[in-house]
Amino acid sequence: MIFCHISFKNPHSHFANIKIKFANLTKGPQEFTLPAWRPGRYELDPFTDHIFRFGVSDEAGRPLAWRKTTPNTWIVDNPSTQALTLRYDYYAFKMDAGNSLVDKQQVYLNFINCIFYQVGRMDLPYTVSLDLPKDYLIACALGTRPTLQASSYHQLVDSPVFASTKLRDLTYTIDGHEFHLTFQGEHPLDETKLLADFYQFTRVQMQAMGGFPCQVYRFLVQSLDYTHYHGVEHEDSTVLVLGPNTPDTHDNYREMLLGVASHELFHAWNVTRIRPAEMSPYDFSKEVLFDTGFVAEGFTTYYGDLFLRQSGVFSHQAYYKEINTLLLRHFQNYGRFESSLLESSQNLWVDGYQKSTPSKKVSIYVKGALVSMILDIQIRQSTTSQHSLIDVIQQMYALHRYEQGGYTLSDVYALIGKIGGEHVLTLARELVETTTPIESILQQTLALVGCSLVSEPHSNEFTAKTGILLDRNRIIDIAPKSIAYQVVSIGDTLTHINGTLLEEDWEISDTTVLTLADGSTLTLPSSTETYYSYYSIVDDPAADTLQNSLKKEWLGDE
Ligand SMILES: [Zn+2]
Repeated sequence: MIFCHISFKNPHSHFANIKIKFANLTKGPQEFTLPAWRPGRYELDPFTDHIFRFGVSDEAGRPLAWRKTTPNTWIVDNPSTQALTLRYDYYAFKMDAGNSLVDKQQVYLNFINCIFYQVGRMDLPYTVSLDLPKDYLIACALGTRPTLQASSYHQLVDSPVFASTKLRDLTYTIDGHEFHLTFQGEHPLDETKLLADFYQFTRVQMQAMGGFPCQVYRFLVQSLDYTHYHGVEHEDSTVLVLGPNTPDTHDNYREMLLGVASHELFHAWNVTRIRPAEMSPYDFSKEVLFDTGFVAEGFTTYYGDLFLRQSGVFSHQAYYKEINTLLLRHFQNYGRFESSLLESSQNLWVDGYQKSTPSKKVSIYVKGALVSMILDIQIRQSTTSQHSLIDVIQQMYALHRYEQGGYTLSDVYALIGKIGGEHVLTLARELVETTTPIESILQQTLALVGCSLVSEPHSNEFTAKTGILLDRNRIIDIAPKSIAYQVVSIGDTLTHINGTLLEEDWEISDTTVLTLADGSTLTLPSSTETYYSYYSIVDDPAADTLQNSLKKEWLGDE
C-alpha cells in the first residue's frame, strides 16, 4: 500500500502540498518517477516543471539525499530504511481536461500530473487522503469521500477528482448502470432536456456495444465563462472542459457538450479498454509510438457524432454539419498530399499537436473519422447491412483489450477483412497507408447511402485563384502546388492586390499583381487551378429505394 496525503494550505498560491509514503522497500537504490506524459495526449508534458520543494525523509523524519537521472526520475541511493516519504508541492494552475487547478473555489486534480510511482511496483494499491474544507463535495471515479482508494497506480491516475462547495450532480440509470453528470461552474441548459439527451446517446452506445464496461460512470464538467473545449477519457469517467457558459451561447454550448461527451463516452471502450498493443499497459516514463491513431481517435470521432444522430439527439442536418466540419478541415489541409494516416500517427509525438511545419500531416481525428465513415458504409454495403464498422470494434473489445495485450494494425486489418471482405480491406489499406486523394472514394461511398459530395470554390475569390490564404493582410498558408508558393512566404504581409489597397474593393483579373509590405511587387500569371475548395455532403434527391434504406440504417432513422 502506498499512502498519499494531499493538503492545500494556501489555495491562493495554487499549490497542492503532497506527501507520499512508500513502504516495504527492497534493498538498493530507490527510483521514483513522475509521468512524462498522460494518456489521451501523445506528447511529452512538463509535469515535473510544477514540482517545488522536493524532499525525501526516512521513517524517523530525517532528510535523505537524492539525485535526478532523467527530467522525471528521482533516485535515493541505498537508503537503510524500509520506508521513505516524498514531500513536495505541486503548482496546480492549468485549466484543461488533463491538468490540475487549485484555487480558492475548487480543487481539481489529475493525479497523473503530480503523483510518483516506482517502476515494478505500479500494481500496489494507493490510498489518497485529501485534506479539504469540510463543506467540499467530491466527485471522482474512486468515490465521493476525502479518502480515495485505488487498486493500482494505473487506476489512481485514471481517476481525476473534482472538489468544491458547488458541484452540481445530475444522474441517470440505464440497465443498472449509473451515470453522473457533475458540473463545476454554471451552465445555461435545461437539465431535464440535458439528461434526456445524455440518456439517449448513452443508451444507443450501450446497444451498439452490448452493455457498458463499468457500473458507475462520471462525466466531470468544468464549465467556464470563457472559451474552451477539451475532453479527456478515462475508464470510468471523463473530464470535459468547456465554455463560454453564458445564456446567450446556449445552442453552441449544448452542441459542444453533447459532442465531446458522446466522443469521450465511446472512449470508455475504445482507447481506455481497447488499446494499441504498444500501450498495453502504459509506460509513462517515455514516448510510446503507435501507428493506429486512426483507430484510437478516428473511430471515436466518427462514432461520437454518429451516435448523436442515431439516438435522435442530433437532427439529420446537425449531423451533416459535423461531417461538413470534418470535410472542411481535411480539404483545407494540403498536408493530405504529404502524409498518410499511418505516418501522421507515427509522428504524433513529434508534431501531433503543433503546426510547426506547414502542410506536413493529416489529422488522425479528421481523416481518421472520414475513413471510418467510408469503411462503415462500405462494410454495410458489402454485407447487405448485416454488419458495420461497429462489429469490428465489438470484436476488438472481445479480443484486444489492454489486459489481453491490446491490438496491432494487423489485428485491425484482419478484423476489417473478416467482417467487411477483401474489397473493404484493400480500401482500408489504401486510405490508411497512402496519400491517395479521397474525393472519388468519398463520392462513391456516399452515393451508396443516397448522398453526394459537392464542392464549391473558396468564398474568397483571391484565395481560390491564387492558393494564398489570408488573415486580414497576412499570409497564413499557401497551397504547395500553386505558383504563389514559389514567390511568397507564409508570414508575408500584402498591402495591395492589383494596385488597390487590400482594405479597399480590389478586383480579380487574369493575372494578379501582389504588393508586399516591403514595397516589392510580384505578378502571378493566370491559372485555371482552384485552391482551398469547400466540400460538403448533401442528400441526393434522385436516390433510389435501396440507397435510401441503406441511409436509414446508417443514420438510425426510424
Ligand atoms: Zn478522443
